[in-house]
Amino acid sequence: MVTVVDTVSEARRVRHPEKAHRPDNEVARKPDWIRVKAPTSKGYLETRNIVRSNQLVTVCEEAGCPNIGGCWQQKHASFMIMGEICTRACAFCNVSTGRPTALDPNEPENVARAVRQMGLRHVVVTSVDRDDLADGGAQHFVDTIAAIREASPETTVEILTPDFLRKDGALETVVAARPDVFNHNLETVPSNYLTVRPGARYFHSIRLLQQVKELDPDMFTKSGIMVGLGEERNEVLQLMDDLRVADVDFLTMGQYLQPTKKHHPVKAFITPEEFKSYETIAYAKGFLMVSASPLTRSSHHAGDDFAKLRAARAARTGA
Ligand code: SF4
Repeated sequence: MVTVVDTVSEARRVRHPEKAHRPDNEVARKPDWIRVKAPTSKGYLETRNIVRSNQLVTVCEEAGCPNIGGCWQQKHASFMIMGEICTRACAFCNVSTGRPTALDPNEPENVARAVRQMGLRHVVVTSVDRDDLADGGAQHFVDTIAAIREASPETTVEILTPDFLRKDGALETVVAARPDVFNHNLETVPSNYLTVRPGARYFHSIRLLQQVKELDPDMFTKSGIMVGLGEERNEVLQLMDDLRVADVDFLTMGQYLQPTKKHHPVKAFITPEEFKSYETIAYAKGFLMVSASPLTRSSHHAGDDFAKLRAARAARTGA
């Protein structure tokens, strides 16, 4: 059977065609400790105008991030480059799946202009997976980093990349552009990969992070997971060890929230006390920085966290 997705008008396009046939999973009521403000502030609207006027896509909107009200109020947004359609179909993710459109050659400059207009000191740039591109989108990351550096030389750049699986040379290309932080999320423990992140390979992602450090030992590396997807506590502790073997500096952990009834169900709401316990253990295992709380997301407070990350390295090395 052939499913043609790109001849259907945008308004009618099914956002998750691969999930349409799945049985519904009831969306669990959120506990009291997960409460977010409705996004209505003046700052939020200003950020939205800048995003729209530069024809940009943000992961904040595409992923349905619960922090959007607070982040956009402070003019913190994370840009998602290379379109809004992903070639993977992860069971947790709200980003549309399908055949992506061609790259927009103006996008690097558009992102750079928005960064300048928003006065960002630190910017997070992520992307959809582009398995359809020969380099997985590596050069587009490079062009975007270069455009931001040109327009805002003082702004530090954090990238959150796909896994570049089977894209030889892509990682080297991106690392050579010298982003300040290289983030690649593991998302969950290995036993969940076949159901939660079926297009990815756990040890490939670990190895990718390790290679970043081998290529550039000074580059900060970062990775994150969601909890509440059915993982065991011991599996999370093992994952921390795997990341430390790869010399990853910064771990983020947040509660998985189910975007729609077609997505993977929330298996557990992890309490703030359990997050605190994970954070304590992660620090004991040697991470320079750990952010673990129900509403932690990879890019949440990324600018402030980057400053703390630098300070933590300086304190450890005595530099
Ligand atoms: S946490 Fe990240 S993705 Fe969510 S709104 Fe803030 S900047 Fe956007």
